Amino acid sequence: MALLPILTIPDNRLKVKAKPVANVDGRVAALMDDMLETMYRAPGIGLAAPQVGVHERIIVVDLSEPGQARKAPLLMANPRLILSSDEQSTYEEGCLSVPEVYAEVSRPAQVKVRYVDRGGEERELEADGLLATCIQHEIEHLDGVLFIDHLSALKRNMIVRKLSKLKRAG
Ligand SMILES: [Zn+2]
Repeated sequence: MALLPILTIPDNRLKVKAKPVANVDGRVAALMDDMLETMYRAPGIGLAAPQVGVHERIIVVDLSEPGQARKAPLLMANPRLILSSDEQSTYEEGCLSVPEVYAEVSRPAQVKVRYVDRGGEERELEADGLLATCIQHEIEHLDGVLFIDHLSALKRNMIVRKLSKLKRAG
């Protein structure tokens, strides 16, 4: 397994729409493994392929606390929401591509997602709570959308300016 470099804003590759995975083969499974390793190391609870510069519809999620034994990673190709509740929930979100920034975002509280797993099987999963939020956050990455796009333009511009400055300084 290999650790992959994580892109951060304002990298334009984060805004590119990802293409569907035609076939979950060994190459895709290996990419999923590398993404999971990269996410654990960061550490984070979700990672989408565009965040490592790969424009394919692949996400990995594991909500267990950093440092805990992590046993139940979700590895998803072509994840797609087939149901979203009207009820909303609000969580403070962060993102490995938007370092050091946290903000509250409201999203549907329950979702049902259809996806292809690491073994090539089509599956459905019902999620609520933080898992529902995390899956929606990661799927949005596949369409070039970041959680800060849910914030007001004023707040978003402030964040982008601050991080651009930090990047230049570093
Ligand atoms: Zn993110």
